[in-house]
Amino acid sequence: MSSVNIINKTAGWNLQHTYGKLPSGFFSYRQPIPVKDPKTVILNEDLCKELGLDFSDFPSQEIAQLFSGNKTPEGSQPLAQAYAGHQFGNLTILGDGRAILIGEQKSSNGSLVDIQLKGSGRTPYSRGGDGRATLKSMLREYLISESMHHLGIPTTRSLAVVESGESVYREKSQSGAILTRTAQSHIRVGTFEYARHFLSLEEQKELTNYTIERHYPILIAEENPALSLLKAVMERQVTLVVEWMRVGFIHGVMNTDNMSIAGETIDYGPCAFMNTYSLKTVFSSIDVNGRYAYGNQPYITHWNLSILAGALLPQIHTEQKQAIELAQEALNSFRGIYQEKWLAMMRGKLGLMETEASDKPIIEDLLALMQQFGADYTNTFAALQTGDFSGEAFFEASAFQEWYLHWMKQVTKNGRSLEEVQTSMAQYNPYFIPRNHLVEEALDNASLNNDYQLFKELNKILKTPYIPDPSKFHFQSPPPNGDTGYQTFCGT
Ligand code: AMP
Ligand code: MG
Repeated sequence: MSSVNIINKTAGWNLQHTYGKLPSGFFSYRQPIPVKDPKTVILNEDLCKELGLDFSDFPSQEIAQLFSGNKTPEGSQPLAQAYAGHQFGNLTILGDGRAILIGEQKSSNGSLVDIQLKGSGRTPYSRGGDGRATLKSMLREYLISESMHHLGIPTTRSLAVVESGESVYREKSQSGAILTRTAQSHIRVGTFEYARHFLSLEEQKELTNYTIERHYPILIAEENPALSLLKAVMERQVTLVVEWMRVGFIHGVMNTDNMSIAGETIDYGPCAFMNTYSLKTVFSSIDVNGRYAYGNQPYITHWNLSILAGALLPQIHTEQKQAIELAQEALNSFRGIYQEKWLAMMRGKLGLMETEASDKPIIEDLLALMQQFGADYTNTFAALQTGDFSGEAFFEASAFQEWYLHWMKQVTKNGRSLEEVQTSMAQYNPYFIPRNHLVEEALDNASLNNDYQLFKELNKILKTPYIPDPSKFHFQSPPPNGDTGYQTFCGT
């Protein structure tokens, strides 16, 4: 590797620094802390292309230097963002304790994309933490965030994972790594909470205006920017949580610092996918009361939005009483918006194309039967879509068969063929989700034995989750003994 070689090459960085123009209380300038011996384990070439980046001529060591933070790209102004958040209901002061924003890559269509290194060392917000991340947890974020993207769900994405060549200690010694995360931005509900508690009203308004310009430019001329922002964030958050419900995604740690204002899925710590359908499904080891269980996710979204509303109150109206009334009115519309979007999504999953009132009991009856029989969520919808009912005892049950006849009558009653109906369902019902047991196996193989075969295979299959592939049947099956005992950890 010769440095002359490198200087002549430009990867295509076009970094902007709009966040750094906010008042200084919102961040601290910090460089990533170098690591000993970085090695790139995965680089997302498709995403590079989307961002106008090309590293094909770069020596691998140079790529590793870049995505470990040992060297920063031209034009970077690294900073750590300040924020707060309600964690399991309690307000906490947080901030990027192990992440550094390198800059915002301006893509060819003019949009800004945050480029953030996660696991890049301590910052002023690290509290007791070491600022580092384990290889296993960063690979997990890579695999699942990319799967979410290919499922068509708004999410932060993963550009690279670099092994640091250093150990991190989490009960036992593990390999360390740095993930490069991209996002529409890293502004969270918790960023607004932080502003409300620690910054002036003027500074709070600057955050609101910045957020509107960056994510909701349609609201720029609104009379009451904060109230309009609240409503717009609500729309996106509802859309997002309905998407999670569609594919059986359980975020696992819906703290307000993990709720992106842009409406992307962010923070892939203890997340998991539901196999057996149950509203109570929860995998996170620390979520003992099931606060963030599958079926609770819409309620928590509403709760988090009420925290956002609280943080925006002084901007909504100078009189607190009126501010509360306005915010409350907005929050009260949550239920209706959610119901409508959820119903539309479920109609899509079941090919109910006429939006009739009699659709709702058909949806509810199926879900109740799935819960009663412990049916696999993904495979039940996939079977309805393909007409292949082999394998699951649930499909033999007379209660299901009765439901099926009723459903078939409803979807075909206006002369539509079953085939047509099933085609319409295809975009709603994935065949392939990241099955927890396979994810664990892939991550263990990679992080403990440096064997990336399953990781790569899974990553590849999950890029086309809606296309059936009988040769990959194995990747569609839930674990043979169910999910009993499966736990995720606030992965660090
Ligand atoms: P998370 O559970 O990943 O949402 O993290 C919650 C907060 O803890 C965030 O502010 C993180 O930056 C911070 N944090 C998590 N792990 C570490 C670590 N190892 N060192 C420092 N800060 C951390
Ligand atoms: Mg977080």
